[in-house]
Amino acid sequence: MNRSWTALPTLAGTAALLLAVGACSSASSTAAGGGDGKPVVVTSFYPLAFATSQIAGGAVDVSVLTKPGAEPHDLELGAQDIVAMTKARLVIYADGFQPAVDDATAQVEPSHLLDVAAAADLTLEATEDGHEHADTGAAQQGAQHDHAGDDPHFWLDPHRYAAVAKAIGLRLAADDPANATTYAKNTDAFVAKLTTLDREYRVGLKTCTNKVIVTSHSAFGYLAQRYGLQQHGIAGLSPEVEPSAAGLKEINDLVRTKGITTVYQETLVEGRFAETVATSTGAKLATLDPIEGINDKSAGSDYFEVMRSNLSALRQGQGCR
Ligand SMILES: [Zn+2]
Repeated sequence: MNRSWTALPTLAGTAALLLAVGACSSASSTAAGGGDGKPVVVTSFYPLAFATSQIAGGAVDVSVLTKPGAEPHDLELGAQDIVAMTKARLVIYADGFQPAVDDATAQVEPSHLLDVAAAADLTLEATEDGHEHADTGAAQQGAQHDHAGDDPHFWLDPHRYAAVAKAIGLRLAADDPANATTYAKNTDAFVAKLTTLDREYRVGLKTCTNKVIVTSHSAFGYLAQRYGLQQHGIAGLSPEVEPSAAGLKEINDLVRTKGITTVYQETLVEGRFAETVATSTGAKLATLDPIEGINDKSAGSDYFEVMRSNLSALRQGQGCR
């Protein structure tokens, strides 16, 4: 498939630069820097792009492999994405989340890679999301690749996201010592915002009358664990892992027996299973965004705004006073 350069939208307005890097391999682009002299950092999906651009503060050009509004789990990379990865000063990704990115990192000089999986402390496993995955149906080829294993959704826990941000800040500083003070200062500011967010969640979810959350896919395991909730995902760890009839019945029964009044859908994927559960149980539908990307359907323009929208949805849906 011939992907256009828009597969690499950039957060710093350097689309033209990336076009040059990706399509022409022009002589003016070096392995470490773009046409404007700034180093290029390629990130695999939104939360990594957001943290990196906040910490870099304009000192690097940050691009993202997953288009805004695209669902990142089953990302496919075009040849130009891979060229961009091989030319970047640094490629930031989370091993185990996006198989296409994991595969492509084999073509990147190891010293130009930052895998944040260790910093993210991925302690939850796929089997802990509360129900079985439907991966036996005939139309389930998508379920066959490596989603099983660790839950990748670290960014929905502000503590884990802060640890990843620190790892990114340290790495940017190591690669570019001249700007180390800026990176350190920006990292501190970003972590401070996450600390504030964490406090709001802690206070906001302290008094919920219902602690069981039914989500569209199992993206909220770390968030649930951090704030004393129990997550039951209708789909598996990846939205493409669809529920079986038995899985849906199990969720319906859970909604009824636990007195759940709200079922959460998300923004980047169709909400038909959440809708099905809501219809058959009489529960309301609300939106809980896994923040795997930001687009015009998102309830906010960045991670922090959408996290606060999620908090308010949870407070309403779980009866928190
Ligand atoms: Zn996900």
